[in-house]
This record gives sequence, C-alpha cells and structure tokens, in this order.
Amino acid sequence: MRDSCGRAIDYLRLSVTDLCNYRCRYCMPAEGVPKRPHRDILSVEECVEISAAAVRCGVKKIRLTGGEPLVRRGLLDICRGLRAIPELEELCLTTNGSLLAELAAPLRKAGTDRLNISLDTLRPDRFAAMTRRGHLEDALAGIRAAENAGFRNLKLDTVLIGGFNDDEIGDFVKLTADHPWEVRFIELMPMGPCAHWEKSRFLPGETVLEKIPGLQQIESQGVARRYRLPGAKGTVGLISPLSHDFCGQCRRIRVTADGKLKGCLHSREEISLRGLHGAELEAAIRSGILQKPQRHYLTDRPSDTPRTMNQIGG
Ligand code: SAM
Ligand code: SF4
Repeated sequence: MRDSCGRAIDYLRLSVTDLCNYRCRYCMPAEGVPKRPHRDILSVEECVEISAAAVRCGVKKIRLTGGEPLVRRGLLDICRGLRAIPELEELCLTTNGSLLAELAAPLRKAGTDRLNISLDTLRPDRFAAMTRRGHLEDALAGIRAAENAGFRNLKLDTVLIGGFNDDEIGDFVKLTADHPWEVRFIELMPMGPCAHWEKSRFLPGETVLEKIPGLQQIESQGVARRYRLPGAKGTVGLISPLSHDFCGQCRRIRVTADGKLKGCLHSREEISLRGLHGAELEAAIRSGILQKPQRHYLTDRPSDTPRTMNQIGG
C-alpha cells in the first residue's frame, strides 16, 4: 500500500520486547527501563495477528527487533507464527548477538531468513564500557554460531560515534576482505540518552570514505549506499539518516512491543493496535500508513519521540 506521499510501504519492524541484557550508552539509561507487567506487552498471538494484518496491507518483509529480541520468551513461537503467513517474503531479526551461540540454530529452524548483528567496537574494553555489561567474546561467538547455523550474508551494524570507534573504521572495513559480510556504518541519531550529546559524537557516513579512499561504490540496497574494497568478499554500507536523509525512500512502519503503530521512528504520533481484530485492525494499520510523516527533522533538533530506541525498536 502507498502512503499519502506515494511511498510504497512494505516493511514492518516489529519490536517484541523493550527489555535488553545490555545498556548501550546511546540507547538505554543505565538503570534500564521499568519492567512492565506481561499484559502490557504484545503476546505471541498478538504479534502474529498484527503481522498477518500488516501483510494483508502490503507488508512483504518483517524485522523482529527490540530491546533485545533474543531475551523475549516465546520468540521462536513468534518466528514460527510469522513464517506461516504465506505472503510474507522475508523474516529478519536484529540482535546484539550475545545469545546467538544458543539461539542461532533454533532461530534458523523456526524460519528466520536473515540476521543483522550490532557490533560497535572490536575492542573488549570498549565493548564492555559502551554496553555497560556485555562481553565482546559473546558477540563474536554469536557471529560464528550464526554462520554455522547457515545464516548467509550477515550484516554487522556499527553505529559511528566520534571519539569512541572512529579509529576502528579501518579494522571494521578489513573484516570484509575475508568475510562475506556487509559491515554497515550507521549515523548516530540524537534521541533518548544521546539526544544532547556533543556535536563531535555525531559523525557523517562520509567519514568512512575519507578514512578508506580505496572503497569503490557498488549498487545501493534499500537505504544503504554500498561500497567494496577491491577483491573483498564482503561489502561496506553507509546508512546516513542525518547527512543523506532517506525519508523519501522510506518503506517502513513500526510496531512497538506495547502494540503502538508508528509511521516514523522520530515522530510522537502512535496508533494503538491492541484489542483490534480483523477488518478493524487492518483499517488502523492502513490509517497509520496514510498518516506516515513526510520526513524527520533531526538536522534541526533532536528526535521528537519521547521514547528511547529500545522502547521503539531500532
Ligand atoms: N538489541 C538489538 C541490537 O542492539 O541490535 C536490537 C535493538 S537496537 C535498538 C537496534 C539498533 O539500533 C542497534 O544496531 C543499535 O545500535 C541502534 N541504535 C540504538 N540507538 C541508536 C541511535 N541513537 N542512533 C543510531 N542507531 C541506534
Ligand atoms: Fe540493547 Fe540494542 Fe539498545 Fe544496546 S542498542 S541497549 S543491545 S537494545
């Protein structure tokens, strides 16, 4: 279905929890988020019902996210339920990778097609400092487990943060020489805990091209501008919501773990989907698509959303 700006909307990002086993400094407050009663969070059945309705509205690809989706009880049931929706073309999941050593194979078996693994640094001390509680080795073990489970064309998502990991750009790009992965550098967006971080923390994607002039441009994919080192097995992606805002090509809607449809990550507008079924549920999704904002205003001011990223689903 097309929104009021003529954009075809065919991609749903469904958050299955706002909880996380990490506390990344730019994403979540140190104390985490207050644990909500189970009834506040979409049940497995609601996740499947909303997804099926979204597919009837034209969605072809669903990404499960969070919080950390792998801490969600019932995640495999959600995957199986979504996989059983006949017209769904692709089921993807974004994870910090920490629990993939155990869960990569079951996720694959439950019908997950593709994984994105977030990895902001290759240095153990920095990893522990940024996540406030994570261990780099767990994420690396998760990447190996994903490959062993048969996930191909893994994407590693790295948020570029000035003064934190800009000196590791070369190390990340080097990974693509021998691995068939796409390393994607994502511009840090001012929201939640990082809404008012100093300007020097927010680096444009171009920083990567300046540091690695040998990168050769290849075809774009979705919102990612893509590059390759000559002879490399993998690729490099730049996702630049600030310096090259891609709102005009945005195909996404989001549903939060508490069942609110959001047309844009950065807007305040939300439509509650809970308690709706059948034609009513579809009508609410269609109206959310029609109300999708034309663009965000991150270049002028921090995000308008009062939620932190883990409470929306990044
Ligand atoms: N916990 C999972 C993970 O970390 O991959 C999934 C949820 S997390 C919110 C999804 C993605 O959003 C991660 O890659 C994370 O780095 C990114 N993210 C969080 N806050 C961000 C921000 N302010 N700007 C850009 N990316 C952000
Ligand atoms: Fe958790 Fe992902 Fe947010 Fe880090 S970025 S705190 S792993 S939800």
